[in-house]
Amino acid sequence: MAQDYYEVLGIPRSADADTIKKAYRQLAFKYHPDKNPGNKEAEDKFKQAAEAYEVLSDQEKRARYDRFGHAGVNGGFGGQQFTDINDIFSSFSDIFGDFFGGGPARGGRTERNSKRRGADLRYLCDVTLEEAVLGCEKEIEFECDVSCSTCSGRGTAKGSEPETCGTCRGTGQVVRSQAIFAIATTCPNCRGEGVFIKNPCGTCRGKGRSPKKRNLRVTVPAGIDTGTRLRVAGEGEGGYLGGTNGDLFVEIRIRQHKVFEREGQNLITDIEISYLQALLGGELKVPVVGDEKTLTIPAGTQPGETLVLPGEGVPSLKGYGRGNILYNVSVNIPKKLDKEEERLLKEIAAARGDLAGAPTGKGFFRRR
Ligand SMILES: [Zn+2]
Ligand SMILES: [Zn+2]
Repeated sequence: MAQDYYEVLGIPRSADADTIKKAYRQLAFKYHPDKNPGNKEAEDKFKQAAEAYEVLSDQEKRARYDRFGHAGVNGGFGGQQFTDINDIFSSFSDIFGDFFGGGPARGGRTERNSKRRGADLRYLCDVTLEEAVLGCEKEIEFECDVSCSTCSGRGTAKGSEPETCGTCRGTGQVVRSQAIFAIATTCPNCRGEGVFIKNPCGTCRGKGRSPKKRNLRVTVPAGIDTGTRLRVAGEGEGGYLGGTNGDLFVEIRIRQHKVFEREGQNLITDIEISYLQALLGGELKVPVVGDEKTLTIPAGTQPGETLVLPGEGVPSLKGYGRGNILYNVSVNIPKKLDKEEERLLKEIAAARGDLAGAPTGKGFFRRR
C-alpha cells in the first residue's frame, strides 16, 4: 500500500508550493544516496520523497491526487514510479541544482548520433624474400567492427528511435554531490552518449556494431621492401551511421632469408671457391632467388673479391630495372693435400723457384 504523499513529505494537506519544495529538499538531502551509501532504507525513502514531490509539485497532478488518491495519479495519469535513482536527479535537476550549485554540466558527450568514418587499420604482413622479389598474392584474414547491417548502425530495433536520455537530458553527464562539491560525471544510464535505446536491435544488441571476419587477397608487387604500406581503400573499420569505411594499411615485413641479405635493390651473399677455381677460373652454380644460375669465376679471383651477377636482384617498385646479386668470395685453402696433389704442386713450385721457406719479397709485406 502506497504511503500518503503528504505524510511522506511530512506536510499538511494545505501546504503551499514553497513548503512542499522545502520539505522535499530537506528529505532529499537527508536521504541522499551519496550520504547513505548502501543504505536500502534511505534509498527507498529518497525514492518515495521524489515520487511524492513529483505529484504534489504539479498543480494538476496534486488536484487529481487530492480528489482520487493514488488512483488519480498512477495507472495512466502520469504518476512516476522512480526505480532508478538517476531519474530523480534528472527530473528534479532544478532542486539538485539549487543544492549543489548548478545543473548538469554540458559537453563531454560522445557523438553517437553522428555519421563518421571508420578507423584505419594496420595489418602486419610477413612475406618471404622470394615473395618480395617476385611479387605475390597474399590471403589475409582479420576481424574488425563494422556497422550492423540490420539496424544500419543505429542500434535500435526496426521502427523505433533512440530516445534522448532522461537521466542526463541528452547531455551525457549528471551532477552528483561529493561532500560539498558538485561533480559532473558520465551519465550511468546512457554511458555518456546522451541517448538511450529502449528497443535495441536484436542483431547487435543495441551496439550498432558487430565484429566481422574479413578475408582479402592483397597483391604484393615485386620489389616491395620492409616498412612499405599498401593501402587497401575502404577495407578498414566500418563507418558509423553511414559514414565511409576506414582504409586498411598492409604493412610489409620481409622475413630474414637464409642465403641473401638485401641492400636496396641488391642482394648479397657469400660463396666459397676452391683455390684452384680462384687460380684457374671456371664456372660455378650459384643460388639466385628461387633458382640457380651459372656464375663465371675469372682466373685469378682474389679472396674477398666481389663477383656480380647482374639483373638478378630486386626489381624496382617503379617497374624499371633490377638490382644485382653480389657474391663475396672466400677461397678454401685445403689444410691437407693428398699425396698426388702435393707432388704436383711441389713440381710447380720447384719450376718457379718458389719453394717453401723462400718467400718472394714482392708483396710479402703488402697490405690490403
Ligand atoms: Zn544520460
Ligand atoms: Zn543492429
